[in-house]
Amino acid sequence: MIEQHKRCPFCKSRNIIFYVDALHSGTKGKCENCGATSGCIDNVWNWNSRPIEDALRAENDRLKIENEVLEYKYAEITCSMQFGSEHD
Ligand SMILES: [Zn+2]
Repeated sequence: MIEQHKRCPFCKSRNIIFYVDALHSGTKGKCENCGATSGCIDNVWNWNSRPIEDALRAENDRLKIENEVLEYKYAEITCSMQFGSEHD
């Protein structure tokens, strides 16, 4: 199976080339659309490895769930306050 590389993080293009940078004795990925270039990487897996982006995405997913729970609890409280005040 051929590993698919991720899109360019800047312009979302899939037009990425990988080439050997002899000066720095490593492989680099370069976006042919916007010119963004990676540091030296060993293979496509390194291009796809974006720990900060992955961590932020996970944090974002966690916060969305937390927000849904809080919205639900807020609605419960608001609802009970409305019904509670009618009986006073
Ligand atoms: Zn790009």
